Amino acid sequence: MIMSRGTVRNINVRITVNNFKCAGCFACYNACPYNAIEMLLSEEGFYIPIIDDEKCRNCNVCKEVCPIISPPSLERYLKPTTYACWSKDKEVRIASSSGGVFSELAQAVLKMGGTVYGVVWDINELKPVHVGASTIDMLKEMRGSKYVQSYIGKSYKQVVEYLKQGTPVMFSGTPCQVSALYNIVPPKFRHRLYTVNVVCHGVASIKFFKMYLKYVAKNKKVISINMRDKSHGWTKFGVRIKFDNGTAYISFHREDMFFFGYLNNLVLNNICYECPFSRIPALGDITLGDFWGVPKGLYDESGVSIMLINSEKGKELVELVKDRLTLVSVSLEDIVKTNPRIIIGSIGKPIEREHIMKLISENRSRDLFKLLKWLKFRNDLLSIIIGYPSITLRKLQKILRP
Ligand SMILES: Cc1cc2nc3c(=O)[nH]c(=O)nc-3n(C[C@H](O)[C@H](O)[C@H](O)COP(=O)(O)OP(=O)(O)OC[C@H]3O[C@@H](n4cnc5c(N)ncnc54)[C@H](O)[C@@H]3O)c2cc1C
Ligand code: SF4
Ligand code: SF4
Repeated sequence: MIMSRGTVRNINVRITVNNFKCAGCFACYNACPYNAIEMLLSEEGFYIPIIDDEKCRNCNVCKEVCPIISPPSLERYLKPTTYACWSKDKEVRIASSSGGVFSELAQAVLKMGGTVYGVVWDINELKPVHVGASTIDMLKEMRGSKYVQSYIGKSYKQVVEYLKQGTPVMFSGTPCQVSALYNIVPPKFRHRLYTVNVVCHGVASIKFFKMYLKYVAKNKKVISINMRDKSHGWTKFGVRIKFDNGTAYISFHREDMFFFGYLNNLVLNNICYECPFSRIPALGDITLGDFWGVPKGLYDESGVSIMLINSEKGKELVELVKDRLTLVSVSLEDIVKTNPRIIIGSIGKPIEREHIMKLISENRSRDLFKLLKWLKFRNDLLSIIIGYPSITLRKLQKILRP
């Protein structure tokens, strides 16, 4: 089950929670006082902790900080304050996934002299990584969602160090990563910590993503990746991957093979199908997402975010940037209608996932993309016959097998 790097010796496959439940959040890796845990990629392409038995002293700290085993308990509003919102700075809004709200919140923390933890592309390794930013230029690279599981490294420990020195920190990530962070940061250092979690559909396999990049790059070197290119608008977003020879791969998300796999739930981490963190109250001070069901009066192709303020700290942070944002009060019921993931962790696992994961595990790229193309063709054809403009595999399965 484990993809060993060949040189790692004496490492036993003893994992704190079983593979199907592990979120790959890196909490155990950050907390282990004996550095006995390594994060490796599973055959399916997700981070999992591996314990080195020679170093492990059975102190059980890894279990105490695991948010699956011990979820943090925090003071949160039972009913969040909910807004449709966007940055008044058009450039920021266009460069971001939805309304550019993350950037405005982050800038407020930089102005306090703080550090912001978010996700950038490691373009050499072709993977998303969490890093700390202390300048606006560094923030720019954090803009835009990277729908692949990010490498946290020792970010949580670094956050604790900043907080201990009195530096304010904003941490942005998926709900499981934010929960993991709270299990690492002692309560006495939390007063300068602000957290933002995205609404989370799930994370895609890193192995799948790398196979996809090879498939579209065809031996060219990738120099930049944008999974939320708004050249044709927010709702018609696409992928733009630039290569070193000056050319680029550009695709509308509905035509793209990564998004076909991702949005049809074929390549998500096992736990994402029953996510214990997609619920209300969310654990981040603030939750951000796309307002896909935006009413006509607020609709704008530059992008509209939904924001849930979940705590007093969240309220405090938004207060600092309210002049830079357009904020329109909307009901929780209205935003959940078109974005049920805010409250529901359970999403259907298509029967095809098992076969897709087998092809990924065996590195059978040709067969993988042949199968994905066939599934997409079958979907498109059935959508036309049934008369659905767009349909997911899961919906289709429900219609065909009532
Ligand atoms: C894996 C993932 C799944 C998502 N699923 C949904 C969804 O189902 N429904 C929905 O409404 N919105 C979802 N979002 C959120 C949405 O795509 C936007 O990020 C959100 O609307 C904020 O947009 P923005 O314009 O304010 O900021 P942006 O500039 O887009 O901010 C991006 C922020 O997201 C963080 N981020 C980017 N990639 C990752 C990653 N791989 N792991 C952890 N954090 C990351 C960055 O740290 C950055 O802070 C998801 C985001 C991610 C990363
Ligand atoms: S702490 Fe995170 S990475 Fe470690 S076992 Fe638990 S879920 Fe997995
Ligand atoms: S769906 Fe849940 S478990 Fe999966 S990445 Fe998102 S928050 Fe983590």
